[in-house]
Amino acid sequence: MTVQMDGTPPGTQGRYGLCHWCRQFADDIRLVQVVEAGSGPCTAGNLFACGRCRKAHGLVPFADQP
Ligand SMILES: [Zn+2]
Repeated sequence: MTVQMDGTPPGTQGRYGLCHWCRQFADDIRLVQVVEAGSGPCTAGNLFACGRCRKAHGLVPFADQP
């Protein structure tokens, strides 16, 4: 049995990482886009954005999309 420390499933809360948009580390980045494999040789894959950039660019976290 596994119990999350904060009671929330992984992927729904912000975590520490590099923001793809401002290229700075933040402690509230969220996964906002998953690039499909095979769409191009230079696709980066998962893209993460910090709270400030999500607001500035109108990005919707992947977990919050319908
Ligand atoms: Zn950012």
